[in-house]
Amino acid sequence: MSDPTLLAVVFWAFFLLDGAQIGRRTRFSFMSWFGGRRARPAHRRWQLYSPWPGSWRAPADDLPFSFAPAGLCNWPAGSAARPATTPDTLQAWRWEEITEVQERAGRLLINGRDFCPATPHLSADRVRALAAACGPLSPDARARLLRTRLRLWLRPAHLRRRALVLRARTQTLATANALALLVLAAITTGWLGFLPELIGTGSAARLASALPLAVAYLICLHVGAVALAWRARARLQRLDPHHPPSKNPLPGVFFFPPGALHLRALLGENWFPASHPLATALAFAPPAMRDEIVFNVLADLRWPLAPPGAGPLAAEILGNFRTELEQEIGLLLRRTRLDPARLLAPPVPDGPQSRTYCPRCGAQFVTEKGTCPRGVPLRPLP
Ligand SMILES: [Zn+2]
Repeated sequence: MSDPTLLAVVFWAFFLLDGAQIGRRTRFSFMSWFGGRRARPAHRRWQLYSPWPGSWRAPADDLPFSFAPAGLCNWPAGSAARPATTPDTLQAWRWEEITEVQERAGRLLINGRDFCPATPHLSADRVRALAAACGPLSPDARARLLRTRLRLWLRPAHLRRRALVLRARTQTLATANALALLVLAAITTGWLGFLPELIGTGSAARLASALPLAVAYLICLHVGAVALAWRARARLQRLDPHHPPSKNPLPGVFFFPPGALHLRALLGENWFPASHPLATALAFAPPAMRDEIVFNVLADLRWPLAPPGAGPLAAEILGNFRTELEQEIGLLLRRTRLDPARLLAPPVPDGPQSRTYCPRCGAQFVTEKGTCPRGVPLRPLP
């Protein structure tokens, strides 16, 4: 491979792999591939940026815990993911019992025991603060406090506003990035010798003489885009003063041009508040994908997988949390004019033999009654 070819391959490889994230656990990420209002969900361990500079993405994690006035439990309820991620060992703590909370290697430890993955919903500091706040309160006051906390993760209209602000504040720099990308693609095509074949030798020679000018233009676009991103980041931070300050990635990308072609996505990384995937789906997902996520969450609330060896405290927390979450989701769905009954309606039989179906996973069976392999009682097909 010649030097220019190698350089081009390395540059474009860095560009395509920029923003790659590989984690230990699967998580939802909503990607707007071309920077529009819609974003498609993906649930997996790895995430990539879209190659288009106008794109943005909003991460969303399932809640890895459930809580209630009685305490905090590490068995989730209302999971959007299939299969839902559940802990190896069930734990439930009364708020008064929580004395020590730590975060280590992406995990929350409560009273020295591994509890659940650390997600943006509840950091160690927030669990400590919540336990301290709940301690002296009556059960009713605790329920009000926890409801307020839960509602913070269920705000699709707020997420939509955030996306709108991000797109508006980063419009110029996304355009500068798009121009730079097109010029770079043209230079690469010329550099690798494809231009004479595409446009003829004479035109290719004239364009080759303009190469120094194109490179100078590219440098101006790069410096200008990073400067615009610097200003946009400061303005976004002023709009969100409660967000904990994060490390500024812009000095790094200034010296790493492939990374400076995704400035909008980079600024959007910490822009979206912690949310339930259902709220993010209601805000951004295309209708079919949104309905699938809403179905998964509702089905997990109504036909949950029974946690093994749940004691009375875990059962109380889970029961209470499911009721609260379903109520809040019901309000949201009414506002968005989505009918849970339509989403949870029995499927169309996939053959004359089908008699029953599992309301949680939608699988159909020829038996008259029984349970699906996950233990959910079957229902008759209409
Ligand atoms: Zn099933």
